Amino acid sequence: MRIILLGPPGAGKGTQAERITNDFKIPHISTGDIFRYNIKNNTELGKLAKQYIDKGLLVPDAVTNKIVEDRLSKDDCKNGFLLDGYPRNVSQAESLEKFLANENLKIDHVLNIIVDRDSLVERLSGRRVCPSCGATYHVVTKPPKIEGICDKCGEKLIQRTDDNIESVLKRLEVYEDETKPLIEYYSKTNLIRNIDGNKPVNEVYNDIQALIGDDK
Ligand code: ADP
Ligand code: ADP
Ligand code: ZN
Repeated sequence: MRIILLGPPGAGKGTQAERITNDFKIPHISTGDIFRYNIKNNTELGKLAKQYIDKGLLVPDAVTNKIVEDRLSKDDCKNGFLLDGYPRNVSQAESLEKFLANENLKIDHVLNIIVDRDSLVERLSGRRVCPSCGATYHVVTKPPKIEGICDKCGEKLIQRTDDNIESVLKRLEVYEDETKPLIEYYSKTNLIRNIDGNKPVNEVYNDIQALIGDDK
């Protein structure tokens, strides 16, 4: 099964991706996670990506497309994959389409998670993440058992450097201008399904399962 998760920053893509990829035993490919891993390890890619990410801007397409192609070429993607946060503009979608066509592969589902703007700002401002295992929390709606500490691995939680209000507002603007046009792009192929992401995490997941569940 090959899935693309679309939606604005804070829609819950990462949260739902974790559950889908566990259930369907497919790799979770998040371009944001790949960039953050590289930033943490101070690689050349990390140094480049950081300049864009901290401003809330997209990392250039040529760089991003290459990373995704390399990742999709790995053996563990043979039985499917879930893309979270890629493609993020029409040019990336076209690049992905070309790559997949070359490999004789097709996307099965594009899930578009819709959340109202005020909730997005609240979700991103309250998001806390574990720098060690990647688990995601929220100070109000999903607090860890012990404040500031990861339930899963005991590491100290952090706030992403781009989850400050200035970057959040910029990212929402970039989403409107560059990512939203993808909804129309994928509507043409009849692949896209809207998901009401305002509901609680479990209900959103049930709705997703209802759409893709039979394909397992
Ligand atoms: P994205 O990957 O789309 O940016 P995340 O999955 O990281 O979004 O979620 C953003 C924040 O919102 C996190 O703090 C997460 O705990 C919280 N969140 C995710 N889904 C929901 C939901 N359905 N209801 C309330 N809060 C949610
Ligand atoms: P969120 O869902 O909260 O926006 P992500 O982890 O998906 O967070 O992305 C964080 C940042 O990484 C983005 O704001 C952008 O700077 C960069 N990024 C992630 N994916 C892409 C992509 N496909 N193209 C360009 N930049 C990207
Ligand atoms: Zn952890």
